[in-house]
Amino acid sequence: AELDTLDIIVLAAILLGTLAYFTKGSLWGKTKDPYATSFAATNTAKAGKTRNIVQKMEESGKNCIIFYGSQTGTAEDYASRLAKEGKSRFGLETMVADLEDYDFDNLDAIPSDKIVMFVLATYGEGEPTDNAVEFYEFITGEDVSFSQGNDPPLDNLHYVAFGLGNNTYEHYNSMVRNVNKALEKLGAHRIGEAGEGDDGAGTMEEDFLAWKDPMWAALAAKMGLEEREAVYEPIFSVVEREDLTKDSPEVYLGEPNKMHLEGAAKGPFNAHNPYIAPIAESHELFSAKDRNCLHMEIDVSGSNLTYQTGDHVAVWPTNPGEEVDRFLNVFGLGSKRDTVVTVKPLEPTAKVPFPTPTTYDAIVRYHMEICAPVSRQFVATLAPFAPDNETKAEMTKLGGDKDYFHEKVNAHHLNIARLLESVSKGKTWNVPFSALIEGVTKLQPRYYSISSSSLVQPKKISITAVVETQILPGREDPFRGVATNYLLALKEKQNGDPNPTPFGLSYEITGPRNKYDGIHVPVHVRHSNFKLPSDPSKPVIMVGPGTGVAPFRGFVQERAKLAENGENVGKTILFFGCRRRNEDFLYEKEWEEYKKILGDKFELVVAFSREGPKKVYVQHLLKERAKEINELLEQKAFFYVCGDAANMAREVNAVLGQIISEQRGVPETKAEEIVKNMRAANQYQEDVW
Ligand code: FAD
Repeated sequence: AELDTLDIIVLAAILLGTLAYFTKGSLWGKTKDPYATSFAATNTAKAGKTRNIVQKMEESGKNCIIFYGSQTGTAEDYASRLAKEGKSRFGLETMVADLEDYDFDNLDAIPSDKIVMFVLATYGEGEPTDNAVEFYEFITGEDVSFSQGNDPPLDNLHYVAFGLGNNTYEHYNSMVRNVNKALEKLGAHRIGEAGEGDDGAGTMEEDFLAWKDPMWAALAAKMGLEEREAVYEPIFSVVEREDLTKDSPEVYLGEPNKMHLEGAAKGPFNAHNPYIAPIAESHELFSAKDRNCLHMEIDVSGSNLTYQTGDHVAVWPTNPGEEVDRFLNVFGLGSKRDTVVTVKPLEPTAKVPFPTPTTYDAIVRYHMEICAPVSRQFVATLAPFAPDNETKAEMTKLGGDKDYFHEKVNAHHLNIARLLESVSKGKTWNVPFSALIEGVTKLQPRYYSISSSSLVQPKKISITAVVETQILPGREDPFRGVATNYLLALKEKQNGDPNPTPFGLSYEITGPRNKYDGIHVPVHVRHSNFKLPSDPSKPVIMVGPGTGVAPFRGFVQERAKLAENGENVGKTILFFGCRRRNEDFLYEKEWEEYKKILGDKFELVVAFSREGPKKVYVQHLLKERAKEINELLEQKAFFYVCGDAANMAREVNAVLGQIISEQRGVPETKAEEIVKNMRAANQYQEDVW
């Protein structure tokens, strides 16, 4: 029989799969996480590039490499800043490198007059970031070995380390701590202290700034570097193209990559290649007038995207038009917004963080985190470009004085354009565009805990997102979150408003070249370890106040479906918390449906914080149920917490210790130990942010 097209595709896929298996994926670049199979989307561009860091440094004449392990872009940003500073202040030949792009078995071959920096974020429960998994497993592995066979193995290596963590998590900065330990054990020599930044205390930026100066001093002393007066040198050339207009077919107007520009993008869809997903349905979940919470159904049936209950979906937002305008105007680019530019790296190891040729408008709207907090270091960098001396003096003061900066900038949630506008009293700034590309972080996707079950709706992803609004003293308009207000506009459009402007903000809802029309949103899926027990008869205890209930809606949906399918489903208790029954009781009606199916197996316990004379939170209700909770834990119940990392998750952890201590008659220290062991055994899982 003749082969039809499908057969050929299947055969080709098997052949490719086999090839990938036998070459361990090395033809495409290594990938571990099945959700991060980025070879088709990005690594084709990297194919042929070396994974040999020593060779790379030699070829490009570098003597200082800065590796980053980054999930949300901050570590990557810090790495770039170190590279920039090393070059401008000390004349180091620096390069920034993604840990994922190199092999590490020849770290011992890096000559001792070179320097290696590690900027490492810790993610979730003490895990490496996705791009650092392989490096981490390698360097902390039992049988790590290197190419040269030196003794000690890394005696040649001189390194610098900084970690990004959050002290509200159990494994605070474990990534940098463990890597540092491993490197020391292998005989590598650290220069300066291994720094630690704390997002939990909100001091990340200041911790970084406080760490880097002594580090540079130690490094300069060690390597005999001479400090010179830092002059700004652009990393990118930005050339305005008179031969192209925004309607030229090769010009990117916000399309994330070449495939998207040239036609319907193909999978695999991942962190480098979003799927432009139709929103099947969206509605408001709150009854309160002044707060919004969105429920959205994202249809992934047109893609090969899959998810498992408990995974995260990433939404790629766009900036509101008003902030795009403000940014362009403050830099005098308002009238040039549609001018086409080509951006190229001026040195081979720098990467342009968006595809070009493109327009100023598209860069600012789709690729720059223009609404985010401003870094004090960036303010200092911009001082020389101030339009007058008074402004320059103020910028220098802001850049140099931590407390003054906090009072004037952070406390008001100023973004870069708002700050510059106010300091220069409306005068425009003439800053090389390269400095903005270097200094403003890449616009990051926002993650949401998927609130549906993949067993029930494998091709439709639900999200439950509270719209971010903060009323701040000293600022006339409230702060509005980027992604959630964009989603709110999409919801309003879907529900009949042809030109939604939530809170006066407008969005390019139909996307570049109207490709997102018909209500689409760019997304990808991120695998998580937050999972139901594989044996459904095991009891589960879930604690998820506010939007922390998102993944538990998926969990309960799944358990109800399993029960319908005739499976024996164990006790399923959900602790939910909100302000008032008639305001923000998420999915109130739905829980009743699940109750009908699961009967006594399902119980919803709700804490209303603003209904009675005293505030009641989930942890109070946990305590009231101490006896039952302990019994369930003794039956090996799985315990889950989702939502606010800063306060709630911590308190729940403490309360669980107290419950175990009281109920089992053991000292608190012993009970804490038991909770720790539950975490280690995955019997206690957190999905917190
Ligand atoms: P952003 O614009 O990113 O602002 C967020 C916060 O950053 C602000 O409130 C403020 O504190 C700070 N900030 C921003 N700009 C400034 C400034 N200029 N100055 C000072 N401070 C500033 N959320 C949900 O609603 N539901 C979920 O299910 C959910 N799941 C998540 C799962 C994971 C794994 C993670 C990491 C997060 C999850 N989140 C969830 C949070 C979500 O990803 C977003 O952070 C949230 O929706 C806010 O995004 P935004 O773009 O609207 O706000």
